[in-house]
Amino acid sequence: MTMRHIAIIGSGPAGYYTAEAAQKAFGGDVRVDIFDCLPVPYGLIRTGVAPDHQSIKGVSRRYETVALSDNVRFVGNVSVGKDVSIEELQGLYDAIVLATGAPKDRDLGISGADLGNVFGSAAFVGWYNGHPQFSALDPDLSGRTAVVIGMGNVALDVARILSKTPAEFAGSDIVLHALDMLEASNIDRIVLMGRRGPHQIMMTPKELGELGKLERASPHVQRGDFPVEEEDALLEPGLRKSVTVLRQFAAIPEDIRAEKPVAIEFAFCAQPVEILGENGKVTGVVVEETEVVRGRAQGTGRTAVLPADLVIACIGYRSVPIPGVPFEEREGRFANLDGRIMPGLYAVGWARRGPSGTIGTNRPDGYSVIERIVEDAECGGLGSGGKKGRQGFDELAEKRGLDVVTFRDWKKIEEAEEKAARDGAPREKFVEVAAMIAAKR
Ligand code: NAP
Repeated sequence: MTMRHIAIIGSGPAGYYTAEAAQKAFGGDVRVDIFDCLPVPYGLIRTGVAPDHQSIKGVSRRYETVALSDNVRFVGNVSVGKDVSIEELQGLYDAIVLATGAPKDRDLGISGADLGNVFGSAAFVGWYNGHPQFSALDPDLSGRTAVVIGMGNVALDVARILSKTPAEFAGSDIVLHALDMLEASNIDRIVLMGRRGPHQIMMTPKELGELGKLERASPHVQRGDFPVEEEDALLEPGLRKSVTVLRQFAAIPEDIRAEKPVAIEFAFCAQPVEILGENGKVTGVVVEETEVVRGRAQGTGRTAVLPADLVIACIGYRSVPIPGVPFEEREGRFANLDGRIMPGLYAVGWARRGPSGTIGTNRPDGYSVIERIVEDAECGGLGSGGKKGRQGFDELAEKRGLDVVTFRDWKKIEEAEEKAARDGAPREKFVEVAAMIAAKR
């Protein structure tokens, strides 16, 4: 068989599952290079999954097995589009798979969204997870009220992280700068704001249930916000379970709730229409009451001002377009049919389907995109082979003086992070690229 060279751009779950699938499909006749703009691998496993969800992060061990095999290579600290162009990679590799995820926050699109202490979840989650791009975010946690917009699992992560005690972070890999600031935080009211009702939340039951087990925070849900209980039976099972958890929260007696100093309030049928500020910093959110009509939120025109010291919009993400690659603006993802952008160029994971699904959803995605590549190889869509692949890239990298981070280098960085860990923590992450590079030396 012809040797095939595949470049995967992005080393998160979608990237590694695609590499695994390529090994299975092509056996010894494939060489895979997995590029990442950061010197460290695993994408959202490292910088997205909540630091107190270590069991989820454990999936990276599976990716390590793939990474350590002979025909797969990690090419870290190389930014495609900056250090090397897609066109250059197309000249070197038979197939390029964009596994770049959706790293940009979806726009709130209301006035005041650019005020100080208003953040998107990519930035805020990146801050407490030590993403170098956001580690200097420096949110002001000295106020009392945080408004978290959105009713998905990211909103839950953010509300939970904002309300945990230092002791509850034991065993997590939350970065020190965030741990220190959260310890000194004054926030005691967190409003989770959903533009639709309890029957339209995107939160999954296990993650929602965690809000009921916090040391100093209690969920506040109003009984009057629910439709009649019989209607729960019409919901799909996962959502029905989440609604059951919400109903249990609503049944917590007021005096029990009041025992905990931090309130996590659920505000349903409430959409932000403007963010107010003073001296460039947020002071409140103008909230419009909505009605859910045929599943969609419709404004009623009735508004009220909710005071706010911190606003975090957890309303989803967008991929970042790459010049020359067709992009669906509205959906915020690459234009593709079943992962194929065009023969030789593919998208997988959030870059293919938009920001939804769990880590596991990326596995079938990775296997499916490799099926497209096999089809294209078989019908001649990838040319007759003979491209230079990794050898060609290495020549280019040397010519450009790129400081490429290999998987072996990453293991050194990882070792240094593990050595620096606080008591009981798995690691203390480097939060700056320069520190990561220094550690590999
Ligand atoms: P999500 O599940 O799509 O939730 C986004 C939320 O934002 C929805 O409630 C949505 O409301 C709301 N929203 C969107 N645009 C809005 C606007 N303009 N104004 C007000 N609200 C708006 O997204 P996510 O929370 O970012 O999660 C992304 C994916 O990662 C999901 O599949 C999630 O399950 C997964 N994830 C999983 C875990 C875990 O398993 N532990 C943790 C984190 C993330 P509408 O529904 O009305 O549009």
